[in-house]
Amino acid sequence: MRNRHAGAPFADGDEQIEAYLADLSVPALLASCVHLLPPERHDEILDGPVRPQGIYINELQGFMSPEDQAAGRKLALEIIRDYRDRGCPEPEPPSDELARRIMEFLAVEEVTPDYLAMMLDELGLDGRDHRRPERLPAAADYPAVIVGAGMSGLLAAIRLGQAGFPYVVLEKNDDVGGTWWENTYPGARVDVASHFYSYSFDDGGHWSEFFSRQPELRAYFAHVADSYGLRDHIRFGVEVTGATWNEDDATWTVEVEGGDPITARVLVTAVGQLNRPLVPEFPGSFDGPAFHTSRWRDDVDLTGKRVVMIGAGATGFQLAPAIAERVEHLTIIQRTAQWMFPNPGYHEGVGPGVDWATRHLPFYGRWFRFVEMWPMTDKGLVAAKVDPAWEPQRQSVSEINDMVRVMFGDWIREQVGDDAELLAKVLPTYPPTGKRTLQDNGTWLKTLQRDNVELVRAGVERLAAGGVVDSEGVEHPADVVVFATGFRYNDLLLPLRIRGRDGVDLREMWGIRPAAHVGVTVAGFPNLFLLYGPGTNAAGGSSAILGVEFAAWFMTECLRELVTGRHRTVEVTREAYDAYYARFQDEMRQMVWASPHIEHNYFTNEAGEVHGVNPFRMVDYWHWTRRPDPADYVYS
Ligand SMILES: Cc1cc2nc3c(=O)[nH]c(=O)nc-3n(C[C@H](O)[C@H](O)[C@H](O)COP(=O)(O)OP(=O)(O)OC[C@H]3O[C@@H](n4cnc5c(N)ncnc54)[C@H](O)[C@@H]3O)c2cc1C
Repeated sequence: MRNRHAGAPFADGDEQIEAYLADLSVPALLASCVHLLPPERHDEILDGPVRPQGIYINELQGFMSPEDQAAGRKLALEIIRDYRDRGCPEPEPPSDELARRIMEFLAVEEVTPDYLAMMLDELGLDGRDHRRPERLPAAADYPAVIVGAGMSGLLAAIRLGQAGFPYVVLEKNDDVGGTWWENTYPGARVDVASHFYSYSFDDGGHWSEFFSRQPELRAYFAHVADSYGLRDHIRFGVEVTGATWNEDDATWTVEVEGGDPITARVLVTAVGQLNRPLVPEFPGSFDGPAFHTSRWRDDVDLTGKRVVMIGAGATGFQLAPAIAERVEHLTIIQRTAQWMFPNPGYHEGVGPGVDWATRHLPFYGRWFRFVEMWPMTDKGLVAAKVDPAWEPQRQSVSEINDMVRVMFGDWIREQVGDDAELLAKVLPTYPPTGKRTLQDNGTWLKTLQRDNVELVRAGVERLAAGGVVDSEGVEHPADVVVFATGFRYNDLLLPLRIRGRDGVDLREMWGIRPAAHVGVTVAGFPNLFLLYGPGTNAAGGSSAILGVEFAAWFMTECLRELVTGRHRTVEVTREAYDAYYARFQDEMRQMVWASPHIEHNYFTNEAGEVHGVNPFRMVDYWHWTRRPDPADYVYS
């Protein structure tokens, strides 16, 4: 069978192909062309003069001049024409050495062996899904329950199914998709490029926008559920309340709201880090419709209404521009200004050439994923690391972090012009990248400059019958109040009551400090696996899906040992669990996310510590999750 990344043969005419090439990333296009040339001609591209000059987040053309891009397309057209005329023979998958050379061509820097190994695993250039677990006949005796059918739960279902575990997914909603099913507010979209915010083994292929909107993401996860045959295993409308470990028969009893408990030998939580809305309990009450952004009310027409939006973090930043035109007046009550990442192409559509190239040009989709992934993976950590000698820490945490502050600040100043009052409101005064940095193409500040929009930099004192009273005592009249106040980020696994060995309650044991060994396993809780667990949120860039894929692989490796050894339990040792936590906190204390200078930092708990975010390099996390260290795990 033809390698699934080799592309389907085609017979399009020259003019049509030329038109398609105009839509493409020239670096990825040239990388694809390497596969169409005989080995003795690879250097024409890999050592040739037409090449990317650098790589950067969302810079899909590798800083090539327009002339170089045109030259690259011309060269590609000749090579593609010849390939077509030869009947599109299937190219060999690249050797590791050739793959490394292509990666270095695209990355414009050395790709060290550790990154090469991670990237080969991610890209599966040989056509294999490298994270697909081996099928284990004995897995049939280990029924599993997965809680949640969002991105993580669907992945767990695919992986457990591939390994041969009987499993059921319990999902409180009526459909799959989690975040992308629930968050239907206008303007909702990803801020990690879609060709990367997708599973490594199924990149969706045909996104209509580079940063897709919620309906398309929801459809993607529905497509995954359908095409991997997951729906028969999912029970919708079933909310799990807790689970209890039974020492006698080494099983979990999974308790569900209003239904019979379910027994399993393996329990996977995939309930998300951002699934429980945070609605602050303001005093007073409002007489009209008031709702959280993740509980969007389509029955409330905002046209011609006065809307007060409380909060403007990642969600409000997307919502306000999407509704400003149709409301009579929009008041945005925001405590903290947000840093934003300049991304002029944030709302850009994907031309038909991308779809064509992904379907037909050998490895184009893979190399395009690389172009999007490489600058997002680990690069952001450098600017997030605190240099204790740097002053003033209140403003930035290191020299490079300060350079980011200047760059982001210039982007804001450019748009605000000489409006000093607005600038004072929108220019953050805390270190950049300390919170999730928002993707911006200018719509946010344009929205704030509209006559019918007012930004109020204040907190909320109380709700009133006819509006919202801010912390300065000013009442803002409203017909509708929207809470863009985020999620209960630090209440991981809320409201589950998971009781492990000796009846220990997981959330009570954690208190304000949720932890898991490599984000996946917890001492005292055998055969329990957490996906998108503590310390796995990719705040330093990258896609949440990448980390969850690593974690799911780790889970299946633990289970492989469990099943092949016919053991009853697999459990991380207390020593390994504690040591990982200590290492995690040591690292985290050196990162901007734990800086005491970040205003209203939702990453931190009441003690100022961070537990949700991953402070480590993804390449290290990949290595640690390759397989459980036998010294760290006990099988009984
Ligand atoms: C608005 C928004 C935008 C985001 N954008 C990005 C982005 O651009 N890039 C990025 O990398 N990450 C992003 N994230 C973070 C992350 O990628 C998503 O939250 C992702 O959906 C996480 O997948 P998940 O399956 O782990 O959790 P979720 O998508 O939250 O799914 C959890 C599922 O579990 C179910 N569930 C929860 N509790 C129970 C229970 N007790 N019983 C039964 N079912 C239960 C829920 O109903 C839900 O379906 C975003 C998050 C949000 C909220």
